Amino acid sequence: MGANRGKVYLIGAGPGDVELLTLKAVRALGEAQVVLVDELVNPAVLRFARPGVRVIPVGKRGGCRSTPQALIERLMVRYARRGWVVARVKGGDPFVFGRGGEELQTLARAGIEVEVVSGVTAGIGGPAALGIPVTHRDLAHGVTLVTGHTCDGGGPDWAALARCGTTLVIYMGMARLPFIAQALMAGGLAADTPAAAIQSATLPDERAVVSTLERLAADVQAAGIGSPAIVVIGRVAALAKLPAHAALLREVA
Ligand code: SAH
Repeated sequence: MGANRGKVYLIGAGPGDVELLTLKAVRALGEAQVVLVDELVNPAVLRFARPGVRVIPVGKRGGCRSTPQALIERLMVRYARRGWVVARVKGGDPFVFGRGGEELQTLARAGIEVEVVSGVTAGIGGPAALGIPVTHRDLAHGVTLVTGHTCDGGGPDWAALARCGTTLVIYMGMARLPFIAQALMAGGLAADTPAAAIQSATLPDERAVVSTLERLAADVQAAGIGSPAIVVIGRVAALAKLPAHAALLREVA
């Protein structure tokens, strides 16, 4: 604190499409003297940073709490203590499976000023890009955002989620998709529940399949769809606008 006016912006860069950046994200990027950027962030957002600014890629995939996270936090603290404006740029929203909460706590403990810049989370903006509303007055009275990946092997209570009656939006779920689908069906979710997987949502290489809970894992594999992808399970998934899947959509609707 004191004379040093360093500050950290925890910025959500949205799912990929640069036009989904907020005006605030653009302004914060333009103020930054150092930019720490996650792997899933579209590098095109860096056009809003100052020319010649120091850019540090701090990406890691998989989502496990590990030493790199501590290193990232140390870097943010170090630069902010120098009095620099730090932009910590994350995919989607910084507080949705983005470790923004942990980083906020660390920075607060270090007495560093933090400003959070919300972003469009992939689990809402991704489905939206396909025309899937995560809630709908007739089809889903809520939405549950969950991770399919946990470091301790635990994870969400799939049987409880099967009964919750909301749209399920699963982040980081591709590796365990067959298990997740089985667990949801074992918990009582109907095998013919519409389900979709969207890879690289809002980006030029976006790919998606729309299927049913029972068939999604096989269809994803057949289509060669992989991470990063969002999985949407619930009746709203049938609203996806995918011409190639028109027949399938009729089947599940
Ligand atoms: N904070 C991010 C989520 C980070 S966790 C957010 O709010 O969106 C990383 C997971 O997000 C990926 O495994 C994937 O499930 C999802 N994801 C991020 N960007 C994506 C994209 N463009 N398309 C599909 N899924 C994406």
